[in-house]
Amino acid sequence: MGSVEDTATGGDHRRRRRVLFFPLPFQGHINPMFQLAGVLHSRGFAITVFHTHFNAPDASRHPDYHFVPVPDDDGGTPTPGDGGAPPAADTLHVTLERVLAVNRACEAPFRELLAALLEQRRDEVACLVADAHLLTLLDVARELGVPTLVLRTGSAACFRIFMAFPMLCDMGYQPARESELDLPVRELPPYRVRDLLSTSAAGHAVMSEVISRLVKAVATSSGLILNTFDALESAELASLRRDLPAAVQVFDVGPLHKLSPSPATSTSLLRQDRRCLDWLDTQAPASVLYVSFGSLASMSATDIAEAAWGIADSDVPFLWVLRPAIVPGSGAGAPPLPDGFLAAVDGRGVVVGWAPQEEVLEHAAVGAFWTHCGWNSTVEAVCAGVPMLCRPWFGDQMGNARYVADAWRVGVELDGEIERGKVAEAVAAMVMDGGTRRRARELGKRAAESVAGGASGVNVDKLASHIMAL
Ligand code: UDP
Repeated sequence: MGSVEDTATGGDHRRRRRVLFFPLPFQGHINPMFQLAGVLHSRGFAITVFHTHFNAPDASRHPDYHFVPVPDDDGGTPTPGDGGAPPAADTLHVTLERVLAVNRACEAPFRELLAALLEQRRDEVACLVADAHLLTLLDVARELGVPTLVLRTGSAACFRIFMAFPMLCDMGYQPARESELDLPVRELPPYRVRDLLSTSAAGHAVMSEVISRLVKAVATSSGLILNTFDALESAELASLRRDLPAAVQVFDVGPLHKLSPSPATSTSLLRQDRRCLDWLDTQAPASVLYVSFGSLASMSATDIAEAAWGIADSDVPFLWVLRPAIVPGSGAGAPPLPDGFLAAVDGRGVVVGWAPQEEVLEHAAVGAFWTHCGWNSTVEAVCAGVPMLCRPWFGDQMGNARYVADAWRVGVELDGEIERGKVAEAVAAMVMDGGTRRRARELGKRAAESVAGGASGVNVDKLASHIMAL
């Protein structure tokens, strides 16, 4: 790729090109955005990060970056994972409302702050890379003459659903009807109706709005950046390249966490409890079940009790992440485990509030991952070659689980309610299942080859050259 010093102005005025970033303020969006920033910074770009006050990044962990806080006071929209979070069924709906609120609240201050930055550094600024959910802010940047690229933090397959969403509504797949949940979506294999982005009837309107804005954000940008790679989603990437306007280039630059020099600790919103790594060091290879449901999923006290007794009855060593406030309304303290659980599993497991997940998944002792199938968790497990027990909650998680279980066959799905007998059986079977484990390891090797063999690095170079040419 070319130098990031811009010589277009005649040589005596060489300036380092600057890429502006604006992440959506949720953990699963912040991580890949900073990983991408790290990758481009290592290629020589200067970095400015615009961010909301809500879930603000810790600037002291990125001394080389320039940070611009953007006021986002939206009148206190509830946030999933907060003490006052909604019931699990409404998590998607409320998250989407929050996305729209962030766009509304940040529009005017972002316009002002970006204009001020351009006044000082117009020549340096190459483009804005914003989360796909931030259409309003992408529009603001374009109005001020700044080229835009979109980072979508989900899979290529999920973006296909977004592009097909009007068709899915026309064909009656969305909003989903209870009686049709197990029907195949013939136009988008391997999905079943239940794997689409379904939400409550009340949530359908807001979801339609968010999806149409998201597709427009990409279609009006100069590129779509995805945290995926050809060895994982070759057909899906080809289909996006076919269906998007020719001016929108698709950059599959994943797996970003493997390419980025920035450590995962640098963007964690919660403190990662590293003591669990010492405990993993004492466990036999591939023996431990790692359990985590990401940063947004909520559980009832009954779900937690059923999961706990299922894990206990499986007789498998475990490391369980139980986020503070995973139970809506329970406050910021440790979530309630059922009486007698810790005594029953004495010495066989560890429960933490938040873990260094990438390192945990890479640890030799981890043999299986009970996951909610958020896209980052899925990619991290794929790269680590760890088989998955999938229990999706909402949004793109069901579709990710379908790919894990049926397309790549590196995991199995735990259907329906969390129930102790089902959990114990699935966990024990997962740990014994040599076929799934072998396929997971093979897929992990293909991911490593994409990184070491250079395919992902080549795509990053293409992205860097594209940015230089904007
Ligand atoms: N994560 C972590 N520690 C944990 C659990 C999760 O650092 O104990 C990280 C994980 O590595 C991933 C992110 O949080 O990068 C969660 O993103 P994902 O897309 O999997 O799920 P979401 O939180 O968006 O539902």
